[in-house]
Amino acid sequence: MHIFTNAAELRAYTETQRAAGRRLGLVPTMGALHEGHLQLVQAAATQCDEVIASVFVNPTQFNNPDDLRLYPRVPEQDAALLAPAGCTALFLPPVAEVYPQPTMLRFDFGALEQVMEGAHRPGHFNGVATVVSKLFHFARPHVAYFGQKDFQQVAVVRQLVADLSFDLELVVYPTVREADGLAMSSRNRRLSPAARAAAPLLYQVLTAAAAQVRQGLPPAQVQAQALGYLAKAPEFTPEYFELVNAHSLQPVAQYTIGQPLALCVAAHLDGVRLIDNVVIE
Ligand code: AMP
Repeated sequence: MHIFTNAAELRAYTETQRAAGRRLGLVPTMGALHEGHLQLVQAAATQCDEVIASVFVNPTQFNNPDDLRLYPRVPEQDAALLAPAGCTALFLPPVAEVYPQPTMLRFDFGALEQVMEGAHRPGHFNGVATVVSKLFHFARPHVAYFGQKDFQQVAVVRQLVADLSFDLELVVYPTVREADGLAMSSRNRRLSPAARAAAPLLYQVLTAAAAQVRQGLPPAQVQAQALGYLAKAPEFTPEYFELVNAHSLQPVAQYTIGQPLALCVAAHLDGVRLIDNVVIE
């Protein structure tokens, strides 16, 4: 596995690979890798000739300085996990390589980012779109792999690819979970034993709410009950729980036939912010 810390060197490498007719897959990550990331890499390895993974804790997508400071960073462990999963090139840049100067460009995704993560984390999707655009330019992938775990991020990146005419295919993989249902997340490493024990409630509440949606319980009641459950658990401070249109991400007040739906939640557990979602078929 090649390791690049320099963007120009990565780009020279990927240009050579493209010119040789090889299919390039990119898996952008912030590191502290887990099975969810590795399944994206494995999927890329089956579909592409070259798999480029990036490990970069992107400062511009953090609105909370403590969250950025405490975000787990274990690059050696990450590198050791990536090679056996099929990664052929790891991009591990320092911040100054990605941001040699402060960016002036600002992304505005309109209604897509006026809800949920975008509403609660001002500037988050501007940072995501900035770094993803840069990674697309550095790695020039034919295919980019993202996890459904970050549901709104997928919608924003889809819009970014369409609006800026990036010539690549997006592949979205389902959320990989622990045996008890907790969505795998790098932030799970920061959970205290008590918080970790309580954490599966997030997915339990989502699946219970999904069942209520399927039974036709009014959206406002589904939301109120879910938030009530989470608020009662002493470890949890819920931030939002939304039933949304899975394409527009706008909150759904009443059901209409054929509307694609998703339930999305964010909650703080002992100072660690977790998100999760389920798509309702
Ligand atoms: P992150 O390192 O958290 O920025 O995540 C990097 C990529 O891995 C994103 O596309 C995430 O959506 C995806 N990802 C993170 N956790 C999971 C998971 N549990 N299952 C599937 N994909 C995930």
